[in-house]
Amino acid sequence: MTAKQALVFSIVAPIYNERENLPELYRRVKAVMEGLGEPWELVLVDDGSTDGSTDLMRQLRAEDPEHVRPVIFARNFGHQIAVTAGMDYARGQAVVLMDADLQDPPEVIPDLVAKWREGYQVVYAVRAEREGETWFKKTTAAMFYRLIYRITDVKIPLDTGDFRLMDRKVVDVLKNMPEHHRFIRGMVSWVGFRQTGVPYKRAPRFAGETKYPLRKMLKFALDAITGFSYFPLQLATYVGFVSAGMAIIAIPVVVALRLTGSQAFYGQASTLIAVLFLGGVQLISLGILGEYLGRLYDEAKGRPLYVVAEAPEDDNA
Ligand code: UDP
Ligand code: MG
Repeated sequence: MTAKQALVFSIVAPIYNERENLPELYRRVKAVMEGLGEPWELVLVDDGSTDGSTDLMRQLRAEDPEHVRPVIFARNFGHQIAVTAGMDYARGQAVVLMDADLQDPPEVIPDLVAKWREGYQVVYAVRAEREGETWFKKTTAAMFYRLIYRITDVKIPLDTGDFRLMDRKVVDVLKNMPEHHRFIRGMVSWVGFRQTGVPYKRAPRFAGETKYPLRKMLKFALDAITGFSYFPLQLATYVGFVSAGMAIIAIPVVVALRLTGSQAFYGQASTLIAVLFLGGVQLISLGILGEYLGRLYDEAKGRPLYVVAEAPEDDNA
């Protein structure tokens, strides 16, 4: 048995109602990891599943206690938090994050490992192609990645999800970043070290439906932007300068027109439009301030990121 040998690989997968995918995930991860021939573990984080995934995870644990380590949340805390818990519990020298729906094929792991062996501390998998996703998902995702790239301070690689391998050093840094609104791929870019990408073909979901409805996608995008950019806060300044500039030009023009007896800009429509426009801009700016303030409040409360209901007894996270 390899139990006494130091653990090399931790595979972390967040699970939110993935009953149909779990056995296949376990089977394929196991086949790939056995091919690599070094000690490994599969950390499954149950993010408040209600479809029986939890029992299935306990069952996998009973069948293969050496490799399967379920961490069971007290409720649904969200994908990024589940991945965070997975990293907290992972004990390997290299930690691989992947989705449980097999959109990130376990067969790519040896490519990631090869780069790690070359000396890279972060090897992220770049989606060269994506199959079986809606036009809407692909377009919004492409726009999202490009927007984030433009307005954030750290350069987050394009078309890259959380599917990646990280060295223990990087994971230990991430474990010391207690922020509540987490955008993990941004945090990993922020950490630095030697990073590289490996292209792969993103497969369609093996079974089930996406667990990322539009509402969660929007929240995710907001966390990414507010976590890594002040651009929305600065927007108010830009718009303020533009409208003040327009007013400075408009004042002499309107005065001149009136003195020469012109009827242009007569009446209340123009006043009303200007007031509505500026009122709108001010309300939006207040809303943006509110977003940042709310996040600040969340950090100030300092609550734990997640609550674990059940974890393997051998853990030392
Ligand atoms: N997930 C999670 N908590 C959630 C939503 C999703 O743990 O609240 C997990 C889900 O089980 C999957 C991964 O996050 O393993 C990615 O979710 P999904 O495949 O639904 O997202 P998509 O690929 O459609 O963007
Ligand atoms: Mg998916």
